[in-house]
Amino acid sequence: MKTTFYHELTTTSLQDKLLSDACCEKILAGSDVELLPLLDAAYQVRKTYFQNEVQLHILNNAQNGYCPEDCGYCAQASSATTDIEAYPLKPDAEILEEAKRAYESGAYRYCIVMSGRGPSPKRVSHLAELIHTVKTRYPIEVCLSAGLIDIESAHTLKAAGLDRLNHNLNTSEAHYPNICSTHTYQDRMETLQAAQTVGIACCSGVIVGMGEGTDDLIQVAKSLRQLEVASLPVNFFLPISGTQLSETPTLTPDYCLRVLCLYRFLNPRAEIRVAAGREHHLRSMEVMALYPANSMFIDGYLNAEGSTASRTVEMIKDAGFTVKTNAEDVEQLNQDDIEKRDVLLKELKVLRPRMKS
Ligand code: SF4
Repeated sequence: MKTTFYHELTTTSLQDKLLSDACCEKILAGSDVELLPLLDAAYQVRKTYFQNEVQLHILNNAQNGYCPEDCGYCAQASSATTDIEAYPLKPDAEILEEAKRAYESGAYRYCIVMSGRGPSPKRVSHLAELIHTVKTRYPIEVCLSAGLIDIESAHTLKAAGLDRLNHNLNTSEAHYPNICSTHTYQDRMETLQAAQTVGIACCSGVIVGMGEGTDDLIQVAKSLRQLEVASLPVNFFLPISGTQLSETPTLTPDYCLRVLCLYRFLNPRAEIRVAAGREHHLRSMEVMALYPANSMFIDGYLNAEGSTASRTVEMIKDAGFTVKTNAEDVEQLNQDDIEKRDVLLKELKVLRPRMKS
């Protein structure tokens, strides 16, 4: 592909114009479009809005399990037989302690995640008090993920100081019935619209690798653009045994990076977060995700572990990016952990495997 093609991707995106579906398909198909110039074209857009900064997020699974919904990818679904540690909403003191730790470890935003279809009015009042306390004590942004939310609940949470509401679209409208039967794509859209109406920024993203086609991924990216989401997590499906969708997808690092580039071109101003599955599916190419994406989770995901905070911070710094944080001691961020790591020397049985000891 000629260099003008890559240049046009950047300029089209920076001019807030849409790429055609045919162009999006070409990016994902990969045969004609080379990866390195594509990453550079996406990086030019990322750099315009976010320079070389990377935002780090920590998830707090405030309630695990007990969900009546049947999302086929989720270990907490009523239909899942996964052996997870279910617990009702954590006590306030525990959540506040975790918010403090998130702030001290350099997270820019603290995400409270609760399983379930959606909170009752009583639960919304409780969450509002909790959010107000976190915001009063720590200068950290708060994001809540609590299922379906109506307009009244959105008003209450906004008044408490909620910065963001997370509710992923996950997949396209056409593919949605294949991953969930207890709620619809439209239900999810309405939750995001309620947040938008009251002025809470929306965080909504996608899960790549649940049997969707490239057209589904393009449709989700374009819907998220219409919603003007502030934050866009791109998850790469991690199959968890016991869930309805437990087949491992055939995602290559090359394809995952193309998806991230496409999402950057279509959502130039959104904070694009490379989320669950980055370690598993990007493998040795993980660091390249920083060129289209400007945000990451540290310390794992909902029910799956991820890289440690120190390893993620090290990767970011090694690649010449900087961590955007509210913590005062950013230079010390997990540095102790990194410095303590010694080189491990090979043992004799590895050096001379045939020698009997
Ligand atoms: S994704 Fe949320 S709503 Fe769906 S099963 Fe899991 S916890 Fe329940």
